[in-house]
Amino acid sequence: MKRILITGGAGFLGSNLCEKLLSDEQNHIICLDNLFSGNINNIKPFEKNPHFEFIEHDIINPIDIKVDEIYNLACPASPVFYKKEPLGTIKTSIYGIFNMLELAKRYDAKLLQTSTSEVYGNPMIHPQNENYWGNVNPIGERACYDESKRLAETILIECAKKYSTTVKIARIFNTYGKNMQIEDGRVISNFIVQALKNTDLTVYGKGEQTRSFCYVDDTIEGLVRLMNSQNSFIYPINIGNDGEYKIIDVAEIIIDKTKSKSKIIHKSLPKDDPQVRRPDIQLARNVLSWKPKVSLSEGLDKTIEYFRGVL
Ligand code: NAD
Ligand code: UDP
Repeated sequence: MKRILITGGAGFLGSNLCEKLLSDEQNHIICLDNLFSGNINNIKPFEKNPHFEFIEHDIINPIDIKVDEIYNLACPASPVFYKKEPLGTIKTSIYGIFNMLELAKRYDAKLLQTSTSEVYGNPMIHPQNENYWGNVNPIGERACYDESKRLAETILIECAKKYSTTVKIARIFNTYGKNMQIEDGRVISNFIVQALKNTDLTVYGKGEQTRSFCYVDDTIEGLVRLMNSQNSFIYPINIGNDGEYKIIDVAEIIIDKTKSKSKIIHKSLPKDDPQVRRPDIQLARNVLSWKPKVSLSEGLDKTIEYFRGVL
């Protein structure tokens, strides 16, 4: 039986990853979370599964659990959450990655880090491939997240070199789908919840900024393939969908799909909000034989159905 630790396992991606890995009966899942931005309801369906256990723990503090694989997802990912606790976010990323590396070393476990497209900041090259170093404001409002995710990558690479730890680094681009929190604050959940409640959709700025949205099942498949990839491959790899949409267009699509009476209103654009974002996913295609399968239209239909059920 393979013992797999998922930090942040009660969150959006973490709970979807628990579900995916529990579908293999050879896996025993240890889900660890401090419930800062996650929700215990996300993991309720696995409560009675003998191959699942939940530990409430903050990864800022060390922990000793015998494991074969670690997926490190613990970290608030929505700007709304990380801006509430900038120092806590930095400690989660940095103390957290050292604690997970310690475990990986002790038990010779593989460690996959969920890094982010935010390492590219407000990108000066488009689309972004893994060789681009990024354009991040080190003292800006997003820096607690961006810079600590960047430093975590540095720490992982140095440990891989010094101790031969098997590390994997996924640079995940905007992902959406079931188990996002109603109050998560990210754009897809905000717009769908607003549309279903017939309240105004809040587009920040003119909505000309772009993002590339990946449906959760595709992202999770990419993460699992990365964990199972050759141990010699330790470098960052983009996981995302390379379709690119203006935020204003996403608002209109969601109003249309939900047949909502909502209007679009404009609010101020947060500081340092990246103007464009789209992954170059050639490396993932080559190394993982992976590509996203779910179109934005299909993914939005599934996500709207999910939110209809929880609202
Ligand atoms: P999320 O906020 O839903 O999940 C994060 C989980 O980590 C939550 O359950 C939270 O309670 C937990 N957590 C936070 N700090 C913790 C700590 N100190 N100790 C233990 N648990 C802690 O976010 P998500 O979208 O599921 O993101 C998961 C990971 O993927 C994050 O590391 C994020 O940076 C990364 N990521 C996500 C996206 C995306 O679009 N969803 C994009 C890029 C990167
Ligand atoms: N956004 C928006 N309205 C919202 C939430 C977000 O217009 O209610 C915008 C936000 O300014 C950004 C984009 O949508 O340009 C994606 O935001 P999100 O917080 O989902 O992710 P990130 O900015 O981290 O990519």
